[in-house]
This record gives sequence, C-alpha cells and structure tokens, in this order.
Amino acid sequence: MNPILIPTKDIPPAGLDIHWRKTGKELDFYEGGRLLGPVEIDASVIPRGGIYLFRGRAAAEIELECSLCLKKFPLSIRTEFVINYEPVSFEPEVAAKEVELGKDDLDITYYRDDLLPIGEDIREAVLLAIPSVPRCFDACLGLCPVCGRNRNEIQCGCETDDEDERWRVLGELKNKMEDK
Ligand SMILES: [Zn+2]
Ligand SMILES: [Zn+2]
Repeated sequence: MNPILIPTKDIPPAGLDIHWRKTGKELDFYEGGRLLGPVEIDASVIPRGGIYLFRGRAAAEIELECSLCLKKFPLSIRTEFVINYEPVSFEPEVAAKEVELGKDDLDITYYRDDLLPIGEDIREAVLLAIPSVPRCFDACLGLCPVCGRNRNEIQCGCETDDEDERWRVLGELKNKMEDK
C-alpha cells in the first residue's frame, strides 16, 4: 500500500480539516504492536506561503506484549503532533540544519513533488507514543526466573537470588501460620 499523500493543490487557503479513521494497513503499520481497531485522526493542515502547518492528534487501541511477564494486553494510545512541511528546496545544508533543529522543537518534514507525506507522519507519531518497555500494569511481577511461571498468577515459591522482598515477607508469614 502506498503511504497517504496529500497534494498541496488540494489544500484550500483557509486550511484543510482532517477527520479520519485509518486502518493499520492504510497507514502501513506493522511494527511496535498490533492495532486492535482503526487509528482515529483529528488534524488540520494550514498553508503559509509554501509551508504547511500540520497539527492534530491521533488515538488508537493497540495490543502490546508485557516486557516482564510476556502477557498480551491492550493499551489506549493518544498522541499529539505539530509538523511543519517545508518544500525540499528549503532544506538547509547539514551543518545549518543542526543549528536550525536546535532552535526550537518543531518537527520539520521536507516535502517533494507538491505532496505532503501525511500518512507517514501519523504513523511515526503513533509509533513514538508506544512505550518502549511496555508493562501490563505498573507492579507486574514478571516471570519467575527459575520455573518461568507468571508470578502475577501463581506464587511458585522458587528460591531466587533476587527474590522480591514482599514475597520473602509473605513466605515467612505463611511459614509462621503453618507452624501454629
Ligand atoms: Zn506483565
Ligand atoms: Zn518459580
């Protein structure tokens, strides 16, 4: 599938409002996780003398794998983006570009052939919003390094070097109760 491009001639002087629902396929979305539904996009493109300001937000429901216990879980992702599209003829030399990028944190995308690569930038924004170390919940206990079982679901009681303090205390309590 070709990435979504908007020809600059389709953008009226007052700007273009975008309210889209796009599938993962339409956005060429294959990394980072599995989309559980369409990506909802609310944005606008405002022309300013050859430059186009693209700003808005995207939301999606995505299935991720917990980095600790490897369980799959759904996560709602919301992201906002502000991108300046400048024609590729504006692109400065590398040295000047570094200075310019340090100037402010506005993202600049250089477009060519009078086409704005909107689909690609939406995809990027969603990918950046995905946590790089996903957790099914904050206090996830992960897998037991000895028996490999999910410690959120079962207290296997294996001896581990880095045994969690809470489990040690719980284990002692349990022993005391059994001794009675
Ligand atoms: Zn987990
Ligand atoms: Zn275990």
